[in-house]
Amino acid sequence: MPELPEVETTVRGLTPVLQGQRLASVVTRRGDLRRPFPPELAQRMTGATVTALSRRAKYGLIETDRGDTMIFHLGMSGRWRVDPAEVLPHDHLVIETGEGRRLALNDPRRFGSVDLMPTAEVAGWPPFVALGPEPLGPGFTAAHLERVLGGRTASIKQMLLDQRVVAGLGNIYVCEALHEAGVRASRPAGQVSRVKLARLVETVHEVLDAAIAAGGSSLRDYARPDGELGYFSKQFKVYGREGEPCACGGKVARYVEGGRSTFWCPKCQR
Ligand code: ZN
Repeated sequence: MPELPEVETTVRGLTPVLQGQRLASVVTRRGDLRRPFPPELAQRMTGATVTALSRRAKYGLIETDRGDTMIFHLGMSGRWRVDPAEVLPHDHLVIETGEGRRLALNDPRRFGSVDLMPTAEVAGWPPFVALGPEPLGPGFTAAHLERVLGGRTASIKQMLLDQRVVAGLGNIYVCEALHEAGVRASRPAGQVSRVKLARLVETVHEVLDAAIAAGGSSLRDYARPDGELGYFSKQFKVYGREGEPCACGGKVARYVEGGRSTFWCPKCQR
């Protein structure tokens, strides 16, 4: 499942293809993903010029000179294919630029989404309104965490997964950041010290930056005709490593809560 780093590297991979380009054609090849494609999508996007690409939480944003923003979410299995040699059955949205580049949004399970709205209204879009600060942005600080977590008895892990606390962090990177910071995932959020909260801000940056850097390096391979944006192999220290040794000499453990696995080291996470 694409997490924030995959969305970030996807946006970075799409940027050189789309930035400043006029879209020669935008075609939907079925009526819906998780929900219907906007009926005016093809008409509004075809002939428009892309003026900016960005990311908010796990959404990618493509702005045009017509005052529209197309917002995509990769869901469980979505990915953009760059200059595919042929269009495949699960390529549900196909974009061609005036330069002859082609992008295909491929999503076999169709949990993704594509929306279109006036750029001026994006900040007020319901999925964005309640979002907390970006984990890599200036608003994600120890002071912010201290303010929103103070007195909370829910676990620090549950709170870091809460999109109102910080936007776009998923299970994998929360497990990794808690491990790097030496904070037990189940610790009540209000009991995590200011020093540890500051350390958590740093480790969230570290694990996300490392994943984005890993994705960025794989982007160099996209000369191949069926290059795909969005997925890359990663090395995790605890995630998916139950029973394996931790660098501290302990052993990685796992527990399940609300259908989600937490991987952690009982020796170095307190
Ligand atoms: Zn350990």
